[in-house]
Amino acid sequence: MKCALITGGSRGIGRAICIKMAELGYYVLINYKGNVAAANETLEAVRAKGSDGELLQFDVGNEQEVTTVLGGWVEGNKEKYVEVLVNNAGIREDNLLFWMNSTQWRNVLGSSLDGFFYVTKQVINSMLMKRHGRIVNIVSLSGLKGLPGQTNYSAAKAGVIGATKALAQEVAKRGVTVNAIAPGYIKTDMTAELNEKELAALVPMNRFGTPEEVAEAVAFFASKASSYITGEVLSINGGLYT
Ligand code: NAP
Repeated sequence: MKCALITGGSRGIGRAICIKMAELGYYVLINYKGNVAAANETLEAVRAKGSDGELLQFDVGNEQEVTTVLGGWVEGNKEKYVEVLVNNAGIREDNLLFWMNSTQWRNVLGSSLDGFFYVTKQVINSMLMKRHGRIVNIVSLSGLKGLPGQTNYSAAKAGVIGATKALAQEVAKRGVTVNAIAPGYIKTDMTAELNEKELAALVPMNRFGTPEEVAEAVAFFASKASSYITGEVLSINGGLYT
């Protein structure tokens, strides 16, 4: 059975990716941190596409939880293997560096950068054994250009970009590709309190993107069509590069 694990699959971009992977016939492992109602809605949407899946609750930034829950799933499901991993879970806690406290720094690096490490470690072994796997990391425009008020978030996402390029070279011979997607402004809970009208005016396409537009690119990186692409960062930003 082909499985796809999407971290932060309960809401926003992660939910759209879960639904897209279900459409493509994957059994979907939906990770979430705390919002069980939203995670169940994603699972219902996965089933509505004629596929199936299950919920895996763990904090990607907590090594113990990742080992217990995800490691336990891997151990107990030897007949299945995670062919596609989407490291999507992430948060932002914006502040100018001058005002930023170490909790804000650690929380943001923990969910994106530590999360990438802890989760990928649990599933890479079976990808290498099967000589096939797809890892897609959701990063951000902020990690490419840096954004004021986001030193923590820019550092976390830039860190994942570096890890993407390094890991891509480590596992290329074994048929595993590792790529990143860098969205600009996407309409989700994360951007809900931003002034959309004002910010959309800065985007050449004059609008925020949708989670579904990001999910389409994930589907491409997950597919055979992208088999010679690895270590790449694809921007999805309506033309907002600077
Ligand atoms: P969102 O709507 O706020 O959803 C965040 C998701 O991540 C939720 O499913 C949440 O689970 C989960 N999550 C958060 N921290 C977690 C943790 N420590 N462990 C496990 N799950 C965790 O966010 P989004 O806009 O869809 O963002 C998804 C990804 O895209 C993030 O990595 C974000 O940095 C990136 N991104 C977003 C934008 C944008 O404009 N929206 C732009 C660039 C990059 P619960 O539901 O349980 O809380």
